[in-house]
Amino acid sequence: MSAFPNPSAVQTKSVPTWRQQDAKPFVQIEQITKQFGQFTAVNSVSLDIYRNELFCLLGGSGSGKSTLLRMLAGFEEPTSGRILIDGVDMTGIPPWERPVNMMFQSYALFPHLSVEANVAFGLKREGIKSPEVNRRVSEILDMVQLGHLAKRKPHMLSGGQRQRVALARALVKRPKLLLLDEPLGALDKKLREETQFELMRLQDELGITFVVVTHDQEEAMTLATRIGVMNNGEIVQTAEPHEVYEYPKSRFVAEFIGNVNLFDGVVVEDERDSVSIQSPDLDALLQVDHGISCAPNQEVSVAIRPEKIYISREPVDIEVNGAMGIISDVAYMGSQSVFKVRLASGKELRITQPNVSREMGSRLTWEDNVYLSWDPDSCVVLMS
Ligand code: ADP
Ligand code: MG
Repeated sequence: MSAFPNPSAVQTKSVPTWRQQDAKPFVQIEQITKQFGQFTAVNSVSLDIYRNELFCLLGGSGSGKSTLLRMLAGFEEPTSGRILIDGVDMTGIPPWERPVNMMFQSYALFPHLSVEANVAFGLKREGIKSPEVNRRVSEILDMVQLGHLAKRKPHMLSGGQRQRVALARALVKRPKLLLLDEPLGALDKKLREETQFELMRLQDELGITFVVVTHDQEEAMTLATRIGVMNNGEIVQTAEPHEVYEYPKSRFVAEFIGNVNLFDGVVVEDERDSVSIQSPDLDALLQVDHGISCAPNQEVSVAIRPEKIYISREPVDIEVNGAMGIISDVAYMGSQSVFKVRLASGKELRITQPNVSREMGSRLTWEDNVYLSWDPDSCVVLMS
């Protein structure tokens, strides 16, 4: 596979910890397995998370995200493997003795207590003196922009405000590691987006390491420093968001993150810096501008994102990385249009195009004959 272009070369800010060779991980998950009876919910997961990361565990329902998070928190004992936090082995250490706090999806606020009393609750229970409690509560409420609502009861708050109370309550104890299980699950789309930015700001200001569980790939893409993609109890890829999107390691990841066109085929030519693949779905040869290490005639899939395909009514060269087809569906979605194009083989491709002008005249539409093409560096070869 071609080397992933090293972003540290273009980045002017300091190199993130996880890209540094000798950085010390803050959380070390070592071959963690969790079985419930015969069922393996988490299967030999190894993962390093670094200080100040906002790490997202992303996967479908039942993939083992919450179980992994609960083992970090100490609510669940691993069947095998171990977890180190800040260099300390957490085996046998109960939740309340870990430098960890967890925010649950159901915010579980005390209904009879005011916002500030809800936030103060944990500190008081720890025996911290009132002036200190008051100072820390008002500081954190200001930070989540709830200072003006300190006296309200939970039922007088909106969903988003309740979510911020729960967040304040988790943050006020200054954990080194904050675990959030689907923290924005109960919010509507617009509020989710606003809150995502707020989470990122808070994480940045407080310098706490966040691990966020979500099944929403857009949310993970927005929030994360890195994403661990989970499937069937395993982490199938760990990478920065753009890398997960541009260089998925498997069909599963490619299809889980965004939309993708996949061609199944066989390798017909494997050079050092290019590979050619023949697919029954396509008359043209697929050419990818990097080598792969594979056996001759190996079966692979080629993935191409919908926005990387050019579409036009004007004939273009389609002997390599191209196709001719008929538009079978069009969806106008404001900022972009989505086209489905049916090829002679019956294969349907998805293509998106930004809507740059308002002009309707030249727009592509149903039943148009079109030419499709794409660049060799827009394709990713997937072996599994
Ligand atoms: P996710 O959070 O990714 O949706 P979970 O970690 O909650 O997934 O669950 C993973 C799998 O483990 C699911 O199939 C779930 O039914 C199972 N599971 C979770 N907790 C228990 C439990 N306490 N007993 C038995 N099975 C469980
Ligand atoms: Mg869950």
